Amino acid sequence: MDKIIIDNFEVLACHGVNPEEKVNKQRFVFCAVLSVDIRHAAESDDLNMTVSYAAVKKHIQAFCEGNCFDLIETLAARLADGILKAFQLVREIELTVKKPDAPMSGKFDYVAVSVNRAWHRAYLALGSNEGDRNGYLDFALNALKNDDSFANIKESKRLKTEPYGGVATGSFLNSAVECDTLYSPEQLLEVIQAIELSGGRVRKERWGNRTLDIDILFYDDCVIERNDLCVPHFDMENRDFVLIPLAELCPNKVHPLLKKRVQSMLSELQSK
Ligand code: ADP
Ligand code: MG
Repeated sequence: MDKIIIDNFEVLACHGVNPEEKVNKQRFVFCAVLSVDIRHAAESDDLNMTVSYAAVKKHIQAFCEGNCFDLIETLAARLADGILKAFQLVREIELTVKKPDAPMSGKFDYVAVSVNRAWHRAYLALGSNEGDRNGYLDFALNALKNDDSFANIKESKRLKTEPYGGVATGSFLNSAVECDTLYSPEQLLEVIQAIELSGGRVRKERWGNRTLDIDILFYDDCVIERNDLCVPHFDMENRDFVLIPLAELCPNKVHPLLKKRVQSMLSELQSK
């Protein structure tokens, strides 16, 4: 993707572990590489169609001067997230924070931390088969909407389905959600589990009754094979209550392992 670059922008501020760094300003030098599709701006020659580098510079300065962190890791990571949230046309940022006057002996140009952050497209499955099922799905959706690390949230229609796996008893309400997120897959799992818990979920047996279940179906085209996190979601190709709502949102998305489109997986399942 096209890039907008701010190189070696210097700000005086107070970040550091040592007490004197909290009171005496020192230099912090920022290099930001912003991934932005500038095609429309280039065609129209219109500033409103791109990201104003002056506005980003101002944001960096205000954030750096307005906070006082121990670590440049914190400064870099939070600033990168803040820029992605504030400037929606920026899809990805590589941000380097240099500290040329770091309290360290010896001759060096600078110490630096570099972070890469981006908006990622995720698909989630929502399900509830206990209590006010619509209310629990609303709760989950609102929790996502109230978290600014999510954007462009879209829910499919809700589908009433019969339980799967032989443990749960009451019928389910299921839907799928498309969103952009700044969370890593591991963070996203933590966030959705916290939403499940605050939605009254008590972890009983697998596939059992639940007020609220949220699963990660896809995260970009990532394949994750950890014990506590399996992406794309295990067994989705055999679950019509996952594929029907998902096909409404992304019929043409290709499953990165099975190499089949969502719509094809659904058609194959329905013709079995
Ligand atoms: P299920 O959703 O399979 O009925 P649970 O919601 O109780 O069961 O989840 C059991 C475990 O599945 C969770 O603790 C989580 O660590 C793990 N898990 C693995 N992959 C995923 C995923 N893609 N989305 C959500 N949870 C997952
Ligand atoms: Mg689950």
